[in-house]
Amino acid sequence: MSDEFYMTISIPTDDEGYILLLCEHCGTFFKATPSDIEDDGVLRIFCPSCGLTSENYFTEDVIDLALRMIKNTANDKLYAVFKKLERYNKRNNTIKFKVGKRIKHETEDPIRSGIEALEVANFPCCRRTAKIKPLLKMTGAYCPFCGVKNYEIE
Ligand SMILES: [Zn+2]
Ligand SMILES: [Zn+2]
Repeated sequence: MSDEFYMTISIPTDDEGYILLLCEHCGTFFKATPSDIEDDGVLRIFCPSCGLTSENYFTEDVIDLALRMIKNTANDKLYAVFKKLERYNKRNNTIKFKVGKRIKHETEDPIRSGIEALEVANFPCCRRTAKIKPLLKMTGAYCPFCGVKNYEIE
């Protein structure tokens, strides 16, 4: 048995295939499609509201889920180790040792793709789309893919 384990966390998209992102500078939520985010032509993602780039756009939901998954996996591993010890002890009868109930898993809720009030905006500079707050469409928004400010956004 290896001591390492790997985990994949899938971030669900909304019905139109956008995932939720959060600017760490101004707390603005926006959405973009994974294909645009992962495109080689897109080096970094800019916040449509403040125009800055964040180190990390994952929302707390995603981080929270990751931590919970790690905890659950760790608890399972510990449980398996203690069970083994228990069996060993039964055979050798050295010390009284009984493993209690398995620790209940914390729920691993699918991350809600939430914040449905965002509207699709077309950024002609990159010919890509993102979902942003309707207010930003009126005031102008930075293109999440190149950081250029667009004023007339459809
Ligand atoms: Zn921002
Ligand atoms: Zn652009």
